[in-house]
Amino acid sequence: MIVMKFGGTSVGSVNAFAQVAQIVARSAAEEATKPRPGVAVITSAMSGVTNLLIDAATKAAHGSATSHHEITATLAKKHGEVLEHFIANRAERATLERMLEERLEEFERLCSSIAVLGELTPRGLDLVSGLGERINAPVLAAVLRSQGVAAESVDAVEIVATDRAFGEAEPLMEQTTERCRARLLPLMERGIVPVVTGFVGATLDGIPTTLGRGGSDYSGAIVGAVLDVDEIQIWTDVNGVMTADPRIVPNARSISQLSYEEVSELAYYGAKVLHPKTVIPAVRKRIAVRVLNTFEPEHPGTLILEHSNSEEYGSVKGITAIRGMTLMTIAGRGMAGVPGIAARAFGAVARSNANILMISQSSSEVNICFVIPHNSVASTEAALRD
Ligand code: ADP
Ligand code: ASP
Ligand code: MG
Repeated sequence: MIVMKFGGTSVGSVNAFAQVAQIVARSAAEEATKPRPGVAVITSAMSGVTNLLIDAATKAAHGSATSHHEITATLAKKHGEVLEHFIANRAERATLERMLEERLEEFERLCSSIAVLGELTPRGLDLVSGLGERINAPVLAAVLRSQGVAAESVDAVEIVATDRAFGEAEPLMEQTTERCRARLLPLMERGIVPVVTGFVGATLDGIPTTLGRGGSDYSGAIVGAVLDVDEIQIWTDVNGVMTADPRIVPNARSISQLSYEEVSELAYYGAKVLHPKTVIPAVRKRIAVRVLNTFEPEHPGTLILEHSNSEEYGSVKGITAIRGMTLMTIAGRGMAGVPGIAARAFGAVARSNANILMISQSSSEVNICFVIPHNSVASTEAALRD
């Protein structure tokens, strides 16, 4: 049994959808011969869609009552093209077009309300930003069916239960396990591929949430862990996790194996290829995670396990970068040998709610440096001076 998560570019065009259908068809056939067969697919929104949705909601909050109309038209066209290409059956096409229309009407209503209120709450933003996945799962399920793969779309709002931390929600694993198993396993036992929306979940009282930007990877791992699958596959647009971001370093190489710990460090420090929380559910159950390229499916990509073979590149495996960071330094002779100075300094940083990414202290103890996001600098400096 496996979970296959497809990212935005993997479902970003008619050609990409065709490629995904081939990959899923092949895996479904291979799985059918296994002792515990089954494939579950997790899908992102089409590439660029989440950004468009967030952009529209933000503009609405700034008073624009109309700018979302243009985005509605773009979204209708983008998804409409896929339906037109793959779905020959008229009745099925009509059903999907109605689904698309309903979701877009919901989007329009939400943007209008945001414009009237002049305010965008995290809860409101989650309602809007998750729509891309909630449109795309039924589309991908239909595309798979059109290519001979039995598939049914499932909205994660019904099966991934989360806390109420809108914009960065955490799964409630007990309820999620129960719901995912009850909804997905009967389908998989019948040879049907569930196509689940990534990125979204819902609170216990049914209010939609999202798991944070890039969170479909996390969704894939959550569903994989609760179903106890043999492998969680993350299908993206590069040959696995690489020694650096290939968009910045063109001669970056693929890394064949990494440990959970190594990949978490890389992801946390900016390797966008995986959401930083992706391996958390996998670690608990020791499930292998494989990062693969939708556009070069034969490439072995990266296998992520408990321990990696360190020989391949020595102990330094990759280099990452994050933009928008500031290095702050607290310095002064009065700091040397003063017990509790670090606790006081970081207590102040904590009160300003800044997320510290890295800390160092000089051996003379006269300065402490730490890295925080740019947008936390003003409040952190104020808290420290205070
Ligand atoms: P998806 O839509 O499939 O989730 P993302 O855009 O989120 O894809 O992640 C894939 C992108 O991550 C790649 O196109 C690449 O530019 C970027 N990336 C950054 N760092 C790395 C790295 N170390 N290895 C591979 N890709 C990386
Ligand atoms: N579509 C969401 C985003 O763009 C989630 C994802 O792609 O993983 O953040
Ligand atoms: Mg991603």
